[in-house]
Amino acid sequence: MKCEICGYQFIPWEKTDQKEHTQHCKKFLKAQRKYGNDFVNYYEGEKIKQENNPVIDDSSKDIRTRVNAAWRVLWVYYSREIRLNGYKLNFCSFKAFVPDFLYQNPSIFPADVMKELRVRYPSGARKRRKAV
Ligand SMILES: [Zn+2]
Repeated sequence: MKCEICGYQFIPWEKTDQKEHTQHCKKFLKAQRKYGNDFVNYYEGEKIKQENNPVIDDSSKDIRTRVNAAWRVLWVYYSREIRLNGYKLNFCSFKAFVPDFLYQNPSIFPADVMKELRVRYPSGARKRRKAV
């Protein structure tokens, strides 16, 4: 079965599975408390992407709606990074994550949506220069 909270898949009658799931769930919930309810598990994330990607790509919709849809999807990627980092609680903020993510994935959204996002989330040029 799949946990509705953390998205972990496990066999309920397997003790080790259960144990691992409990640990995973705790970590997930801690992270959700830290990062807020926009922090989502893998399955919620996939659903959000499925719902919002068509909106982002639909140029007949107004740009605000499309940017908001992109914002939801960015939270999915942000959640994924936190998950891949073992639900680290000192991960960078969403605001700091977005500019770098957009920089690394320049064609992930249509150009007009990208432009708006870059205005909303100005790039951390200072930080990047320091890294070099
Ligand atoms: Zn769980």
